Amino acid sequence: MRPHVDPTRCRGYGVCHEIADRHFATDDWGLAWATNGPSYSADRTAVDAAIAACPFDAIRWIDTADQDRNRSD
Ligand code: SF4
Repeated sequence: MRPHVDPTRCRGYGVCHEIADRHFATDDWGLAWATNGPSYSADRTAVDAAIAACPFDAIRWIDTADQDRNRSD
């Protein structure tokens, strides 16, 4: 599992980065993406807090196995 930021929902408030800066980065406009940084499972509480705090419900956990399967289709 890894977090995913839906770019169509993110409005660049940067709350996720403030809460979990090891897992979320922002671009020059403040739009966020999930980094490939440290293990998400080891810091799940911080990621869950960022998900809960996002005012646009733009972050969710995705199954990396599904993502890998879709790439190979
Ligand atoms: S908290 Fe939500 S809206 Fe704000 S930058 Fe992060 S993903 Fe985007």
